[in-house]
Formats: sequence, structure tokens, C-alpha cells
Amino acid sequence: PLAQIGVTGLAVMGRNLARNFARHGYRVAVHNRTEARTRALVDEFGGEGDFTATASLEEFTAALERPRRLVIMVKAGQPTDDVIDELVPLLDEGDVVVDGGNAHFLDTRRREQALRERGLHFVGSGVSGGEQGALEGPSIMPGGSEESYRVLGPLLEDIAAQVDGRPCCTHVGPDGAGHFVKMVHNGIEYADMQLIAEAYDLLRHAGGLQPPEIAAVFREWNGGRLESYLIGITADVLAHTDAATGRPFVDVVLDRAEQKGTGRWTVQTALELGVPVSGIAEAVFARSLSGHAELRKASAGLPGPTETWLDSAASDRFAEDVEQALYASKIVAYAQGFQQIQAGSDEYGWRIDPGAMATIWRGGCIIRARFLDRIRAAYEGDRERPSLLTDEHFLQALAGAQSAWRRVVSTAAQLGVPTPGFATALAYYDSLRARVLPAALIQGQRDFFGAHTYRRIDRDGSFHTRWEEPGRPEEER
Ligand code: NDP
Repeated sequence: PLAQIGVTGLAVMGRNLARNFARHGYRVAVHNRTEARTRALVDEFGGEGDFTATASLEEFTAALERPRRLVIMVKAGQPTDDVIDELVPLLDEGDVVVDGGNAHFLDTRRREQALRERGLHFVGSGVSGGEQGALEGPSIMPGGSEESYRVLGPLLEDIAAQVDGRPCCTHVGPDGAGHFVKMVHNGIEYADMQLIAEAYDLLRHAGGLQPPEIAAVFREWNGGRLESYLIGITADVLAHTDAATGRPFVDVVLDRAEQKGTGRWTVQTALELGVPVSGIAEAVFARSLSGHAELRKASAGLPGPTETWLDSAASDRFAEDVEQALYASKIVAYAQGFQQIQAGSDEYGWRIDPGAMATIWRGGCIIRARFLDRIRAAYEGDRERPSLLTDEHFLQALAGAQSAWRRVVSTAAQLGVPTPGFATALAYYDSLRARVLPAALIQGQRDFFGAHTYRRIDRDGSFHTRWEEPGRPEEER
């Protein structure tokens, strides 16, 4: 019998996805540009299931039952277009082409439209969880038509991670919706990692704890409301000793964070949509700053505060305060990310259900966490809620955390420990809370230098003041 699903592109991700399908009993056709990889897969893992190795895209497409379901898992960008161009003439109406790579959602919109015009379904799908997730159950975020999900969804739901009997896979929405949501997922991941890194930095450079002690603090936190994959691996990394030197691993790693670009895309897109994702933006900027070696070297002589450690009385409750600040900042970062999903959904007419996104992120992906159940519940209560911060649970958590959060941010400022993530989250929180923002003054400045006009609190319409003639009433424009 013909294969039920095909995978082309058999590097780490594609190979493991193919094995995942096979382990779930599906007949899988496999293909890779360099045939050696295809042979290696079948030689090594052929015993795991029913694989059909193919040497060309012609053989590959001929090996699949109709409508064909095939997953492209190649390098994102031009290579994906190249593979699509080669594949399309070999396909028939109704076939479903999946791009599981990290594509930009605008590329996915373009590809989806092009394939739709040829009677094909194109599914841009986010796949999160890395190499291990692909094999053991990723979180899957497929976009595309309803029809494509009817043909493909059951297979994806089978191989996805499962939490409380529910698959970490759902139909996200049309065309670019899946890749958009995957992009924001990665942006949130950046923010979460940055906040955790700041918590570590504070415990170390204000609290005076050593990496193994901080690992123990994170382990304890992982038994509570912060429980998550990222907190767990943070404890493991901090507990790790470098074999060559016997020093803590974090002390032998060069402090320059790298990035592949999905965090940057998230911020670029947020700027276009006008969504203030300050937590994600600070996280991206913090990574950029860390990489500016020359700038940092040249700035090493900038003066800092004279006081650089907490006194011992304050340090006793410091770890608890940092836990509160981390939780509160995390709520803000996720709230901002979800606001971006809602804004993208409105802009492109995707009708994304934010609660469903929280549900499929509970397993398989990097930001999987107990916390996401709370977000799911918040949106189940009100799908259109303007911000997660208004949910009763999060409101209570912020109310309980805010004193500690303020203490941590002010302590960090006093001691000179950089906490861009914590500080921006608190500033966002206070900005939302504020009954009046200084934006009124900014409108005045704009009207002064550029006659950009302003609106008044007491009358409708747009107004301009003749600034050079102080006595004159404003003009309505
Ligand atoms: P890579 O991104 O390293 O891509 C390598 C694969 O792409 C190989 O199979 C290679 O074939 C193929 N390829 C490259 N150029 C072409 C081309 N012009 N024509 C045909 N095939 C080509 O592989 P990964 O497995 O790391 O990732 C696959 C996709 O999944 C990427 O889009 C990535 O962004 C995404 N992703 C990766 C994750 C990860 O943790 N690695 C997590 C989530 C998504 P050949 O063997 O012939 O060179």
C-alpha cells in the first residue's frame, strides 16, 4: 500500500518527525536532497515502522496515497521555495503540502495563496520542541484551510505531545496563522528566558549566592507556580560543573547570547501592528547588547553605585521577593504576547482562539508550563478579554506580588544589576494602571512643533493651538 504521509528534508527535525509518524503506525515515505541521509534513516531506524525510502521527488510523490499529505522540513527561506517549486508540478488537486520549518508568516501567506490558485492546500505549521520534541511529541501549530486540517489534523494530533488526554495540536487559522503563532511563541520564549536569567543574576550578584545554591532555589521554585520546562533546565544548567576546570559551567561560558531571528521577527511584527511587547523587545535587545563585545569593553569603566551587595537582613527574604518579581514579570510578558496574537488575528482575519493556543503550548514546546493552564482558563472565561492582566487569578497574583516586585526592581537599580525585563514589565503594569498618562504633554509638543493637532477631554474634534499667539483660542481642524 501507498504511504499515508511523506517527509522531505531529513536533517534532525525531519528525520525525527518521520520516525514519530512511523512509531504511531503510519506508513511514511521519506526523501532528502542528499540521498545518503534517506538511506541512513532507513538503515538506522527502519525497524521502528513502515518507511518507503525514495531517491527523487518523482518517486516520493508517486509513493503517496491521495490526497497526498507531505511535510517539507528543509532550511527556511529560499530552500523551502525551491522545494515547493519542484514539488508543485508533481502534485494533484486537493493534495496537502505542509511546511514545518520556521518560515516567516508573510512568506507562508504568499505560498498559501500561490498553491491555493493551483488547487493545492498549503499548511504553514509551527513545530516546537526541537529535536527531541519532533521525535517524542512536539507542540504543533498548523495554519491553512479547514479542509486541509480535516485531511491532515488527525495525523498531527496523533504525533503531538498529549497533556491531560488532549493533543498539543489544533487548527490555528487560515494561511499564515500557524507560523504567526509559532513566531510569537518564540518571542515569549525569549522573554521568559531573559526574566529567568535576570532572576539568576540578582540572586548571584545582589544576593551573593553561588550557582549550585541558585540551582537549589530554582528547583524549589519548580515545585510551585513557576513550574515549567525552562525553570527545570535552568536548575540543571546551574548545577552543572565544567569537566575540564571543575568550575561552575555558567562561569566558563562566554556571556554573548545568540539568536536565530524569530524573536526579532516577533518584535518587528509587533512594531508594525502597534502592540507594545516591551518584554519580548527587551529580551531581544539584551541578547544584542550581550554580543557587542567592543562596546562592552569600552564601557567597562563607567561608574557604578558604591553599594553593591544586599545587607544580610534584606538578603534573607530576597529569594522570595525575586520569585514574586519573576512571576509578575512573566504574567506581563505572556499577556503582551497574547495581545500580539489577538492583534495579528484581527489584522489578518484569522479568528485565532487564544485559549486554544495556551492549551497546545502546555506540552511539547519550550515554554510548556503549568502556568499555561491558567491562561487557558482565563480565555475560556472570556475569549475577547483585552488583557490577561484583567483575569481574576492574574489580578490577584499581581496584587500579591507587586510590593516584592517593586522592591526587587528598586534594589536592582540601587545595586546596579541590570534587569531590563523586570523593569519594563513593571513599567508596563504601571502604565496600564495609570489613570492619566503623560501622553497629553506629548500631544502638546507635537502640536507645538508640527501642528499635528490634539483632541480635548471636553469636546469632540481635532484642535490646533496658535502657539505664537498665546491669547488666541485654539482652532478646530
Ligand atoms: P536545517 O534547517 O539544518 O536544514 C537542513 C535540511 O534542509 C537538509 O535536509 C537539507 O538537505 C535541506 N535543504 C537545504 N537546502 C535545500 C535545498 N535548496 N533543496 C532541498 N533541500 C534543502 O534542518 P533542521 O532539521 O534543523 O530544521 C528544519 C526546519 O525546521 C528549519 O526550517 C528549521 O528552522 C525548523 N525548525 C528547527 C528546529 C530545531 O530545533 N532544529 C525546531 C523547530 C523548527 P541536504 O541533506 O541535502 O543538505
